[in-house]
Amino acid sequence: MTSALIGERSLYDDEHALLRSTVRAFADRHAAPHAERWRTAGRVDRALFREAARAGILGFNIPEEYGGGGVTDFRVNAVIGEEFSRHPASDALAGIGLSNDIVVPYFTGLTDDAQKARWLPGIAAGERVVAVAMTEPGTGSDLAGIATTAVREGDAYVVNGSKVFISNGQNADLVVTAVRTGPDRHGGLSLLVIEADRPGFTRGRNLEKIGLHAQDTSELFFQDVRVPAANLLGAEGTGFRSLMRNLAQERISIAANAMASIEAVLERTVDYVRERKAFGRTVGSFQNTRFELADMVTTARVGRTYLDGLLARHSRGGLTAVDAAAAKFWATENYVGIVGRCLQLHGAYGYMMEYPIAHAYLDSRITTIYGGTTEIMKEIVAKDLGL
Ligand SMILES: Cc1cc2nc3c(=O)[nH]c(=O)nc-3n(C[C@H](O)[C@H](O)[C@H](O)COP(=O)(O)OP(=O)(O)OC[C@H]3O[C@@H](n4cnc5c(N)ncnc54)[C@H](O)[C@@H]3O)c2cc1C
Repeated sequence: MTSALIGERSLYDDEHALLRSTVRAFADRHAAPHAERWRTAGRVDRALFREAARAGILGFNIPEEYGGGGVTDFRVNAVIGEEFSRHPASDALAGIGLSNDIVVPYFTGLTDDAQKARWLPGIAAGERVVAVAMTEPGTGSDLAGIATTAVREGDAYVVNGSKVFISNGQNADLVVTAVRTGPDRHGGLSLLVIEADRPGFTRGRNLEKIGLHAQDTSELFFQDVRVPAANLLGAEGTGFRSLMRNLAQERISIAANAMASIEAVLERTVDYVRERKAFGRTVGSFQNTRFELADMVTTARVGRTYLDGLLARHSRGGLTAVDAAAAKFWATENYVGIVGRCLQLHGAYGYMMEYPIAHAYLDSRITTIYGGTTEIMKEIVAKDLGL
């Protein structure tokens, strides 16, 4: 694949290029026309998930015997994530990307055959929307501080507690929930799939955010929710380990999406400053604009090489938690910085919501926080240095 700004990328082949146009056409047809309505509503229509499944861009990484596409190569996820991130309706598409890259792996990687048969067909068809709930009002970065309890009673767990900031939380039917099943900070955590129609499960507010307006982000409450022990993912007490393993893919996904967003923002800014005039000349002709863009495009080109190397490594199964943490903070911090500088080059038009740069400015801000903050990512990298 070749981009005017970034140059050739050897990571992908012709099949990926074809997929890229399918994803773009899907976003244009199924997300763009509804994006403003969904932003006002604070959530997308659930039909979007079904349409995505029909188009093969949701559930593609679920085994074929359960109705999915049987894809295991992460480059397919990356193509979809990149095209979603570049699209002006990216906030409306975020819930599908989250399912593909972050939540589905819990359902494919940690389930036994009976669980696969119960859950995967519905997810693959886009009928069952999924979410993962780790964060609580009292704990975010410190995942070992999770306080929502699951107490074993016969063949069920009784769950009490609450979660906050859960993406897809309003639309979700199946929530992978991190719960405390024992007192040990790490060894006392487990993962339970909780169906949203269980008595005692309630959704709180759809939280009002500064960006990602079409994406629902929710509080969830659990009051004496009886969940069959058959809903446990993996063995009791292995929750922390499973989270750590899956968080590497979550973080490389956020990094890859940030990198694609950087490229889209830069391409749009180059187009804008070529057209916009001040003092009888184009804004792009001022030395400041030229130097700013030369600097940012070079950062993007360096970053693209770095990210594509890591994406190739991940598609071969060799990505480490440290690689993912480094990529996550590097790409997202650069995204936040670059989008602010590009907005400046747009002048007041950049502050108007009718310009994609304004959305990118608002939507970018969360990327250095969710999936693990920059500070926590730096802790992971520093620890690996023996510090
Ligand atoms: C839009 C959105 C979507 C989200 N989606 C989900 C989701 O689907 N599922 C889910 O479970 N969660 C989700 N989250 C939650 C998100 O992952 C957490 O907010 C994030 O992990 C940070 O936790 P916190 O907000 O509690 O911050 P805190 O942990 O309270 O941190 C506050 C500040 O202290 C810093 N800090 C904390 N510990 C250290 C340390 N040891 N050293 C240095 N600095 C430190 C942090 O870096 C941060 O700057 C979402 C959040 C948002 C806003």
